[in-house]
Amino acid sequence: MEAVIVLLPGDGIGPEVIAGARQVLEVVAEKYQHNFEFREELMGGAAIDAIGEPLPAATIASCEDSDAVLLGAVGGPKWSDPAAPVRPEQGLLGLRSALEVYANLRPVKVYDELAGASPLRPELLKNVDMLVVRELTGGIYFGEKTRDEDSASDLCVYHTHEIERIVRFAARLATARRKQLCSVDKANILETSRLWRATTDRLMAAEFANVEVETLLVDAAAMHLLSRPGDFDVIVTENMFGDILTDEASMLAGSLGMLPSASLGDSARGLYEPIHGSAPDIAGKGIANPCGTIASAALLLRHSLNLEDEAADIEAALAAAIADGARTADIAAGGAAISTTAMTATILEHLRQP
Ligand code: NAD
Repeated sequence: MEAVIVLLPGDGIGPEVIAGARQVLEVVAEKYQHNFEFREELMGGAAIDAIGEPLPAATIASCEDSDAVLLGAVGGPKWSDPAAPVRPEQGLLGLRSALEVYANLRPVKVYDELAGASPLRPELLKNVDMLVVRELTGGIYFGEKTRDEDSASDLCVYHTHEIERIVRFAARLATARRKQLCSVDKANILETSRLWRATTDRLMAAEFANVEVETLLVDAAAMHLLSRPGDFDVIVTENMFGDILTDEASMLAGSLGMLPSASLGDSARGLYEPIHGSAPDIAGKGIANPCGTIASAALLLRHSLNLEDEAADIEAALAAAIADGARTADIAAGGAAISTTAMTATILEHLRQP
């Protein structure tokens, strides 16, 4: 197949981990006879330095004219002055809105060999394989905001159609997995959550009778994620609850460096990125973990290019490298650690095998 993939290396460790993911995609193209065209564009602090804005119009145009976008990370101390007129992170919201992505997918899988890297007891982490689906464009982050001298408010609004499309999205993904959907809300207190729950109940009964539905209040969900993480298949929730729960869930895997994400909308084109930031403390040292970005490249093949076998091949190569004992410093638990390029090379070696 032919596909255009835009790469946005960004800042800090972004270029280091994107380089690894690009090599992985190149090997997939060679192995499966695909023709991927890669276009590297400016984004974040790198774009501010080059042309004074975090998301140049040329970058947006290139992304809009692509099949998928793979982002490293943006931001860093150099651009963190609160008085600065533009910040790298502004580019992220602009990009999500330009690409009209409303569903943020974060799969959390714990490799048995890495259970020791998580703060949770290893026996709790057996069989953890969940997918958190967070609504990305509505709720309190986008509602009207007010501020006067001694008060402030943030409005939380959800429309039925916004709830329907994200729940439908998550339910379809559950259908292809273990057929369990957990919807998280705060329906004992919030009106938006009561609409969320009523809409979810109605839609699931009408369209997904084969998917088992569980409903949890967000405070209970925060607890259950730690006490019985292996029970969850697909979790769907609104924007702010999802923001918080996905960071909590990421700790199950031991390191931010392991986890991928996908942001999707109604078209096949998606935005893929590791869940970590630009890690300025280790940037330039060649020790960043590339696994989250490489796993994001697998999601890109699966969700935007419909190449399931190729995606599964990357995931198997990644799992094989971990099983071999390949560890970057963040997952080495104090033991022997290898560099970003050595970790990538081990994954490539497995991927090249027929
Ligand atoms: P961070 O995720 O960059 O780093 C947190 C800690 O995890 C650091 O100690 C870092 O070294 C470590 N870490 C992260 N990714 C790693 C990897 N792949 N391998 C090994 N270790 C890794 O979060 P932060 O320090 O809070 O933020 C740094 C900058 O990144 C900030 O400017 C922030 O705004 C930005 N940020 C960007 C994104 C994004 O681009 N989507 C997301 C989060 C934070």
